[in-house]
Amino acid sequence: MMIDAATRSWVEVPEGSDFPIQNLPYGVFVDASGVRCGVAIGDSILDLARAEAVGLFATTELDRDTFRRDDLNGLLQHSRGVWSAVRSRIVSVLDASNRAGREFCEAHDLVIAGPVQMRMPIRVGDYVDFYSSEQHATNLGKMFRPDSEPLLPNWRHLPVGYHGRSGTVVVSGTPIKRPHGQLRGSSGPVFGPSQRLDMELEVGFITGGGPGIGTPISVEDAEHHIFGLCLVNDWSARDIQAWEYVPLGPFLGKSFATTISPWIVPLEALEPFRVPAGDQEPVPLPYLSSDHHIGLDLDLSVEITPAGSAEAFDLTRTSFTNMYWTMAQQLAHITANGATIRPGDLFASGTVSGQTRDEFGSLIEITWNGTNPIEFPDGSSRTFLHDGDTVTIRGRCTADGAVSIGFGACVGTIVR
Ligand code: CA
Repeated sequence: MMIDAATRSWVEVPEGSDFPIQNLPYGVFVDASGVRCGVAIGDSILDLARAEAVGLFATTELDRDTFRRDDLNGLLQHSRGVWSAVRSRIVSVLDASNRAGREFCEAHDLVIAGPVQMRMPIRVGDYVDFYSSEQHATNLGKMFRPDSEPLLPNWRHLPVGYHGRSGTVVVSGTPIKRPHGQLRGSSGPVFGPSQRLDMELEVGFITGGGPGIGTPISVEDAEHHIFGLCLVNDWSARDIQAWEYVPLGPFLGKSFATTISPWIVPLEALEPFRVPAGDQEPVPLPYLSSDHHIGLDLDLSVEITPAGSAEAFDLTRTSFTNMYWTMAQQLAHITANGATIRPGDLFASGTVSGQTRDEFGSLIEITWNGTNPIEFPDGSSRTFLHDGDTVTIRGRCTADGAVSIGFGACVGTIVR
């Protein structure tokens, strides 16, 4: 359900908060009472495990103790109808116009104001990383294959991607250990710490279950299987990548860590910010074509806090509207061969890059393969990431007549 812009919560929501009642993202948190699922409202959390125990979701089809666990997969395994019903129960008790809802929450102490620690929100099933920004693919093509066409012949016909490593997807705040690997040396490969450690600004979507092996999901139906979105930092060791990637693509240069933001924003909350996706030329094959060719107007930014600095500096600002392939096309493509999806599968967009240097979504593009360092106001500069550098990704949606919502932060610090 879409929540009217006039709706307010009785829970205090600071001006400009990422989490007004129109958002209600899901996460997993831990405090002195243990680990459980919750929904963010302003700076507070609605404790879903406790809400469930006192009957808030009794009219829905949720299984017992869906939220008294350390992941959202118990919710993800249900259909979109159940996701909507749960969301509407949550809205009902947080809406300021429902006095009984407030009394219910207060009587059962359902809203937690205190500081909590966020955990991984989902148990990631399969993880796929796409490559769906034309500008990013073009930039990388120019750097990695300077003597040929930057976009390979397949790129405008299918959403190129690869299967990544789900076991190393970590939640925001987890330190990122600099990976070791094979690096190309002047007299043969050497093994050592990556010298060209990079970040990639991406957006991920998380699915519920699919129809089973052998049954593709159509592009028209695809969004029925998408539960929500998060921010993704696809950390990349460019030197490991450059040596290993031919002919099978990304491997150890990517698999050491991928960070996601802790709050999963429901697709329903993003409805006011959906916009027509860009034209595609040539027209994709029928299984990728849809009358409902819709993107998402999501402003994205990356800040870096250099090691030893107390200050954060802008690295990039760009828009998710830059993506060439839509989420629906990506999901239709990944299942076109009969491959199935499972609750908690994570699909990352690929690096989101715009047309100009200050809109590029990775350091390899911003510094043009390390040849053009980026300078910061405190006099420091970077080609790639140093130990102690902190990278923060943020995302926020704005539209006329709608209450702005955000994704919270996706943060990682490089450690030796
Ligand atoms: Ca990537």
